[in-house]
Amino acid sequence: MRGKKVAIIGAGISGLAVAPILAKKGFEVEVYEKNNQPGGRAMVLEDSGFKFDMGPSWYMMPEIFDQWFAKLGRKREDYFSISKLNPNYRLFFPDDEKITITTDWDELENIFEKYEPGSGVRLRKYLDESEEKYNVAVDKYLSMNFTSLWQLLDFDLLRKAVVWKMWRSWNEHVCKSFKNAKLQKVLLWPAVFLGGSPKNLPSLYSLMSHVDLQQGVFYPDRGFQSLVQAMYEVGTEEGVNYSFNSEVQKIHVKNGKAVSLVVNDSIKEVDLVIGSADYQHIEEHLLPNTEKQFINWDQRVLGPHTFCIYLGISKQLHNLTHHNYYFQEDEEWDDHFSAIFGKKQWPKNPSVYICCPSKTDNQVAPKGQENIFMLIPVASGLNDTNEEREKLYNYSINILEKVTGDSIQDHVVFKKIISHRDHIELYNAFQGNSLGLAQTLLQTGPFRLKMRHPNISNLFYTGHYTQPGTGTPICVRSGEIVAEEVMKYYE
Ligand SMILES: Cc1cc2nc3c(=O)[nH]c(=O)nc-3n(C[C@H](O)[C@H](O)[C@H](O)COP(=O)(O)OP(=O)(O)OC[C@H]3O[C@@H](n4cnc5c(N)ncnc54)[C@H](O)[C@@H]3O)c2cc1C
Repeated sequence: MRGKKVAIIGAGISGLAVAPILAKKGFEVEVYEKNNQPGGRAMVLEDSGFKFDMGPSWYMMPEIFDQWFAKLGRKREDYFSISKLNPNYRLFFPDDEKITITTDWDELENIFEKYEPGSGVRLRKYLDESEEKYNVAVDKYLSMNFTSLWQLLDFDLLRKAVVWKMWRSWNEHVCKSFKNAKLQKVLLWPAVFLGGSPKNLPSLYSLMSHVDLQQGVFYPDRGFQSLVQAMYEVGTEEGVNYSFNSEVQKIHVKNGKAVSLVVNDSIKEVDLVIGSADYQHIEEHLLPNTEKQFINWDQRVLGPHTFCIYLGISKQLHNLTHHNYYFQEDEEWDDHFSAIFGKKQWPKNPSVYICCPSKTDNQVAPKGQENIFMLIPVASGLNDTNEEREKLYNYSINILEKVTGDSIQDHVVFKKIISHRDHIELYNAFQGNSLGLAQTLLQTGPFRLKMRHPNISNLFYTGHYTQPGTGTPICVRSGEIVAEEVMKYYE
């Protein structure tokens, strides 16, 4: 493999994860990225003294990142430090009640007891099972490339499937044990991390409750950019060559092999290609028509688009912790998910995530000011008009004013909205989607899009459309798995 030329399309988290592993093995690795910086959906936006992580803000499953650094003979802490947030986050309800989730489990149990007597004990049981699911998933499911259903047969998950009633939705699983609507939301809202809704995700994903409630939420010193920069630095140290402002326009295929790429109108010969850009973009826009896989994109359940607002506020705001979520009333909570996955329309009264990293990091906003990032999951593929943007912007500002009790409108000194059109332009995102494929049962494991093209033997895929799934730690694992597949190809 020494000297074999591997071209990686895209310097998002998955591209950054695979590149140095292959370079360390002796491959000549070139990463082509259309934007002017690494990170992909995890890019940074700096303006007017504010520094925003444009995408991920929840640093979870820290051991997965640490294992990636260890695989490359390094320690994450030599690049950046992380700290555990306390409180983890705060949840706001329309009746002005708030629930603050802290790292203290007894406190969490007491909160549950307050809303529903007896639920504290059930919470312990629920979290024990979530932890068990998490351990099985990390050991097996997040470590392998599923190419066939048979691989499930010697899988612990299958053995446990009956005990865990895996055919049930996560929603059903939670609602069986917890009747209080607020508590149900406390346990179910992390469905958004998986690009799904509590009703379309299998109960396996209650493992997320172990992640956000038991493992906790971390913050990398200086934000997610520290992770991106560190991964990029490791790649450079291992000899990866990164070309920014370099858009791949075509993949040329001859006799069942990718032979060259067209990048910024010039031809680059290759021995192997890894597509870490959106799967649909590579299939539909980069490959010749004769080589496309038969994928019915209309039948696939896309993860949501993330409607994002980045704000610089000229004063400090009350009531917020680093991470906050405002939940709407019960019917509206259901309507919001149905607007994303059912009716596919702009939501009327959606729940809103509010991130205020300036509460823990004094480098992301000028002194005495706040950095606010608000996110509303909406359906991919919506007609992204300026009117809809302004409507959702005004709605979000009202929510921000409601939860903080502060006047906001006159204190906005920086404002940027990112929606579908921007995601298409920035990332070649299919229908402007933000989280790849939703992790429904039929898009999990062997049912997810394949990591290797069936007819082009040296074309591989990584990232949030393929195995194992979406989210930054999972995309790191995706990069590790595809590296193993490439090694096997050359064995
Ligand atoms: C707003 C938002 C919030 C999120 N929050 C979290 C969170 O809190 N925690 C978490 O863990 N995850 C979160 N995620 C999900 C996480 O960011 C993604 O799952 C992950 O970053 C996807 O990485 P990727 O490598 O698969 O794809 P991408 O990041 O999209 O990388 C693909 C790269 O390919 C490039 N590209 C596309 N076409 C071409 C071409 N033709 N030529 C060259 N380059 C090309 C793109 O520019 C991009 O840089 C969030 C995502 C978003 C959008």
